[in-house]
Amino acid sequence: MKTYTGGCHCQKVRYEVDIDNLTEVMSCNCSICSKRGWLLTFVPSSSFRLLQGAEEVTTYHFNENKINHIFCKTCGTASYGSGSDSTGNVMMAINVRCLDNVDTTALQINHVDGKNF
Ligand SMILES: [Zn+2]
Repeated sequence: MKTYTGGCHCQKVRYEVDIDNLTEVMSCNCSICSKRGWLLTFVPSSSFRLLQGAEEVTTYHFNENKINHIFCKTCGTASYGSGSDSTGNVMMAINVRCLDNVDTTALQINHVDGKNF
C-alpha cells in the first residue's frame, strides 16, 4: 500500500489516498468519462482523506444520481468522485491524472465499454 497525494489544478482541493499496487487504470467510454478524459482507479472511502477543499467543491449528478461527480468550483478539475458499490459500500473514484508524481504513461490502461452498460 502506498499513499499518494493529489488534487485539483488550482490547489484548493487536496487529498491523500492509499492505493495498493497502482499499475493499472480504467478508461471508460461512457458519456461523462469520455468527455472528462478520466483515468480512474477505485478505493474504499476509508482509504481517502480530503486534506482541504471541502467547501471548494460542488457535485454534478445525472441519470440515476448514483455517482457524485465532484469538481472544484474554481478550476473545474474533477480530481475525485464517489458512489456506492453493489453492496452499499462507499467507494471513491480517483482521477489518477490528478495524483502527484504519477507517470500515467507507465500504467496499463484497461478500456471499459461503459457506453453500452
Ligand atoms: Zn481547483
